[in-house]
Amino acid sequence: MKSFEYHETRSVQETIEILSSEEETRILAGGCGLLLLIKEKLFVPRAIVNIKKIPGLKYVTQKNGHIAIGTLTTHNEVKDAPAVAEKIPLLSEALGYVATDRIRNMATLGGTLTYADPTSDAAPALLALGARVKAEGKGGEREIALEDFFEDYFETVLPPDEMLTEIIVPVQPDRCGAYYTRFEVRKAMDKAMPGIAVLLVLEDDLRTIKVARIGMSGVGNKCIRLPEAEAFLQGKEDHEEIRRNINEIVKHNIDPIDDYHYSAEYKKEVSGVLMERVFTEAYRRATNQKS
Ligand SMILES: Cc1cc2nc3c(=O)[nH]c(=O)nc-3n(C[C@H](O)[C@H](O)[C@H](O)COP(=O)(O)OP(=O)(O)OC[C@H]3O[C@@H](n4cnc5c(N)ncnc54)[C@H](O)[C@@H]3O)c2cc1C
Repeated sequence: MKSFEYHETRSVQETIEILSSEEETRILAGGCGLLLLIKEKLFVPRAIVNIKKIPGLKYVTQKNGHIAIGTLTTHNEVKDAPAVAEKIPLLSEALGYVATDRIRNMATLGGTLTYADPTSDAAPALLALGARVKAEGKGGEREIALEDFFEDYFETVLPPDEMLTEIIVPVQPDRCGAYYTRFEVRKAMDKAMPGIAVLLVLEDDLRTIKVARIGMSGVGNKCIRLPEAEAFLQGKEDHEEIRRNINEIVKHNIDPIDDYHYSAEYKKEVSGVLMERVFTEAYRRATNQKS
């Protein structure tokens, strides 16, 4: 392994100073993704900034209708936080699919989003929940809608001198049902091919869909929302024909590629069938909610 400079920072400001003064510098959070890239020689850093000792970046708090999660909070800390399990259970459900406890105890929520793996489990749930992320750089702080955050395979819109600090997730409203699952052949250590999260909010009649949001992973170069399928569902009720139609809409709105796991055609077929199932379960959960 090629040698590189190593820094440990104690504040966001100190981190931003280093990121903006040295090229080819990367943040180290849980290390589960970055160290893999370095070991496989897919990325050779000139310097690494370990941010794990920055105080105040590990929290789950509830304020004004949303849950705020510090970037350094690990998958298991997020998954098991009472506020998450109660107010945004879709996220807890999705995080339960990630690898093993060993990984979930190290990998951070901010790390997994900035890693931008197109087969992520967390991202589809957060996209369906309408999450935003907070980033800080030389120019100050800004918020970015998660759907605008992912750019390409393992790439986000963050410039090299900016760091993610917080994930902001609106709480699931009344009359809401949401479900995440992924297609997997083996249980542990598999990746989402695809992973689908559907969040539905019903009208007062507890039948008509008022809001539909869909997040997907494993079918392209980044995790995506499916605006056409969401628009199709809004104003409708669940029935056989809706489910058949949504299957077809999904297949026409994704562009997977062949890989060593599955062909693009197979991924399309699986995505359509999985979407029918995820939608059906999300709708069932929504109709079981009290208004
Ligand atoms: C064996 C194994 C199995 C896995 N299985 C799954 C799975 O089933 N489902 C799934 O979704 N994922 C899976 N993963 C991926 C794993 O979830 C991610 O690698 C991990 O979440 C990354 O988080 P981290 O904290 O370890 O980030 P790191 O590895 O520390 O960083 C990842 C990237 O994000 C950048 N970064 C980190 N934090 C910040 C920040 N605050 N601001 C700016 N940039 C930052 C780093 O510079 C680096 O480029 C698996 C990984 C492994 C090793």
